[in-house]
Order: sequence, then structure tokens, then C-alpha cells
Amino acid sequence: MHWPKEYGGQGRSVVDYSIFNEAYGYHSPPSITDRGRNVVGPGLMVIGTEEQKKRFLPAIARLEAITCLGWTEPNAGSDLSAIETTARLDGNDYIINGQKMFISIAHYATHIFMTALTDTSVPKRQGMSLFIVDMRSPGISLSPLISMDGKRINVVYFTDVRVPAANLVGAKNRGFQQLAMTANYERGNVALPAAYQRVFDEFIEFIKHNKIGGRDLTKDPEARHRLADTAIALETWRMICWRVVWLQSQGQLPQAESSMVQLLRKQTTPKVSRLLWELGGPLAQLKEGTRWALMNGKLEYYSQHAFNIHGQGGIAQTKNAIARRGLGLPRQQG
Ligand SMILES: Cc1cc2nc3c(=O)[nH]c(=O)nc-3n(C[C@H](O)[C@H](O)[C@H](O)COP(=O)(O)OP(=O)(O)OC[C@H]3O[C@@H](n4cnc5c(N)ncnc54)[C@H](O)[C@@H]3O)c2cc1C
Repeated sequence: MHWPKEYGGQGRSVVDYSIFNEAYGYHSPPSITDRGRNVVGPGLMVIGTEEQKKRFLPAIARLEAITCLGWTEPNAGSDLSAIETTARLDGNDYIINGQKMFISIAHYATHIFMTALTDTSVPKRQGMSLFIVDMRSPGISLSPLISMDGKRINVVYFTDVRVPAANLVGAKNRGFQQLAMTANYERGNVALPAAYQRVFDEFIEFIKHNKIGGRDLTKDPEARHRLADTAIALETWRMICWRVVWLQSQGQLPQAESSMVQLLRKQTTPKVSRLLWELGGPLAQLKEGTRWALMNGKLEYYSQHAFNIHGQGGIAQTKNAIARRGLGLPRQQG
């Protein structure tokens, strides 16, 4: 909605889009997950060439191009610069060799937005570039990994994959710096707190009309305090998301605030999940479709998300980023 019309959008404001997105997250209709509209597209708009914007953005907007992110490798997780995948120039093409780990949606993505070293003779942060690569290119293969919550993620292998030089995105060898900037786009996402708010609201309604294990939780002092505490955490997370949206609407690139969103997500999602699981009792562990499952398995589904807190660095690093970018403190040594 908020993309310019010439790139397939409606030319509306990021605030309009976020209002829609929040309602969408709250009501959670079935949808396709992709990283194009939240991360790759906004990144291309800033660092892509005009030709790349025209080629990819309308396709991303229409979901004809579904993009996954290829940053993590077996030895490069939190430290995205530790990659070993290389891209060697050969005529008008780069030849990519390497391996990416834990890649969400790679099994149905049409493209991967990825990092590779284009200069191996310098420190990695000075020799990394970003590429957008067609997943149907010869030499790409996948193997599935099933995560703890039962979802499929992937290992993606690159063996002599030939990629046109025109698919290098942004400035050559500046990929690490550009990646840090691109990653911030994902974080002002108001849909996620809305989705958690929905299940929280449904749980409140549920306990108003049902006892759990013979207990009326609405009258239980400890349960009431925990519910109030979680309601505050959800609202705080939501408001910081909106602060990021607002700063973006003012043409700013909020960095410390984006890390705050990330931190609140990592703190609040397990909090909600643990609350639902613990207050829901043993029946909250039954999956959808099981006879005695509470709220038709929704509690079980959300409780699995308690483990999904690793994306984009851990809690300690996120706090370090806030200290550095928000408070201007020096980089931590050691
Ligand atoms: C479900 C799922 C989906 C994913 N999807 C994608 C995807 O689509 N694309 C993609 O590229 N990647 C993806 N990832 C990978 C994810 O981004 C990485 O797991 C994440 O970057 C952390 O890397 P790691 O798992 O290697 O952990 P590590 O980097 O080994 O970190 C392990 C622990 O050490 C801590 N730690 C590490 N370094 C420091 C430090 N300097 N200071 C303080 N603490 C530190 C971390 O906080 C963490 O708690 C996915 C992961 C999961 C679980």
C-alpha cells in the first residue's frame, strides 16, 4: 500500500499501511509469508538501481516474486559478517559457492536476497556484497530442517551458481553496512503484536466463561497480576512498533527504536506463550483437532512460539545495539 505507484504500490503513507497491517495481524487471515514486502522491497528502494527496482518491485508487490533472506550460515549467525559464501566475478556473471542455514520459506521462494564475499583479500565486513538470486538457477539445492515448532526451514546449497552481475544489489563490498540498514525495515511490524494481542484477548474471554482445572482464573490474584503484567508488555511492544512506523513516516531510519522492537518481541512473545501454557494447564498442550484441546489448540500453537526468539541476534546483542545506537555508548569490548 505504501510503495510508490510506479513500483506497484498504491502510494499511500506508511501509517495507512500499518493501520491495515495491524488489523490484518489481529484477524490473521490465511496468508503467504514472504520477506519481499517488508525487507527486500524497502531495501531495494533505497540501495537498488532503477533497473532493479523496475524489475523486482512490481513483482514483489504482486507476490509473483516471493523472496527469502539468505544471511545465516553454519558459522555465521549473530555475526553476519562471518560468512564463507563467495561470489567470484567471471565475465558478466558472478559465480556463487557456499551454504546458507535456517532459511525460512526457501522451499517456495522464487528469489533469495543473500550475502556473499566479493573480495576475500580484505576483512569480511569490507568485502561482502548483497545479491538477489533466482532460486531456479542451476546449482542451487535445498534440504529441509524442521524447527521445534514443527515448521520447515532450510539449508540452501550453492554450487557454481551463475548470477548476472546486474543482480548485485547496492554498492559492491558495502553489503555488510547496507544489510544493517535493510534489516531495520522488518522491525516496525505492527502485525505481530496484534496477532499476540488477539490470542491474549481470546484467552481473557475464554476464562471469563470457563474454569480451568476447576479454577476461576478471573478471581485468582496471581493469575490476575500475570495477566495485567502481560497486557502492559503487549501494549508497550505495540507502542514502540508504532513509534518506528511514525519515525519512518517522517523519513527517518530508526535504528535504536528498531532494536527496541526486536527486544520487546523477544521478551513479550515467550511471556505470552508461557502465560497461556501455564495458566491453561495440561490441556493447553494439546494440539488443534485433539478432543480436549483448549481454544481448539490455539494455546498449544502459540506456546510453541516461545522458542522462536533467535532471529536477528539474541537478547544480549539487541541490548548492546540499543546501548550503542540509542545511548551512544561505546562498542562493548571482548
Ligand atoms: C525459525 C528460524 C528461522 C530463521 N530464518 C532465517 C532466514 O530466513 N534467513 C536467515 O538468514 N536466517 C534465519 N534464521 C537464522 C537466525 O537469524 C539465526 O539463528 C540468528 O541470527 C542467530 O544465529 P545462531 O543461531 O547461529 O546463534 P549464535 O550466533 O550462535 O548465538 C547463540 C547465542 O549466543 C549469543 N551471542 C552470540 N554472539 C553474541 C555476542 N557478541 N554478544 C552477546 N551474546 C552473543 C546469542 O544472543 C544467542 O543467545 C532463522 C532461525 C530460526 C530459528
